[in-house]
Amino acid sequence: MAGALVVVDVQRDFTPGGALGVEGGDEIIGRINELAASDAFDVVVATRDWHPADHGSFAERGGRWPRHCVQGTPGAELHPALDRGAIDAVVDKGQDPGTEGYSGFEATGLAELLREEGVTAVTVVGIATDHCVRATALDALKEGFTVAVDASAVRGVDPAASEAALEELRALGAVVAGRPEA
Ligand SMILES: [Zn+2]
Repeated sequence: MAGALVVVDVQRDFTPGGALGVEGGDEIIGRINELAASDAFDVVVATRDWHPADHGSFAERGGRWPRHCVQGTPGAELHPALDRGAIDAVVDKGQDPGTEGYSGFEATGLAELLREEGVTAVTVVGIATDHCVRATALDALKEGFTVAVDASAVRGVDPAASEAALEELRALGAVVAGRPEA
């Protein structure tokens, strides 16, 4: 029995000043570093949104988002305040131009990686509550992991949608702990 912390998309483009900056996205990094360094987790995995330049989620390709997290660009890098020393593995998602790639489990091998480490419980933190955190936590439940979300270590694009996402996850059996975002 082992527990994993999955840190979703704490990248420059998703923090203030980035291409798709989420308000307060940088404010959760201290809490994430604290969790990552704690004894509570055996494995810490960070996901990166890692899109090809022609990704279908970009407005110029008919998608709903501005161009963001293009592979190899500074915006796609993990935020510099994130403690890399505490991260055991990085998985890249959203590489298929034809799918949104919101979930850290989608075509990344993350479930296999966690199982190889004996992980049965997953705590999800990061950005954005109403999109990639939600999708990652939903897939973690589908994969059969025990799932928790630390509400003090997530930020969303839309506050109402973020609260709805946490409610949805709770209803499906995830534990939502920590102070919910304002
Ligand atoms: Zn994306």
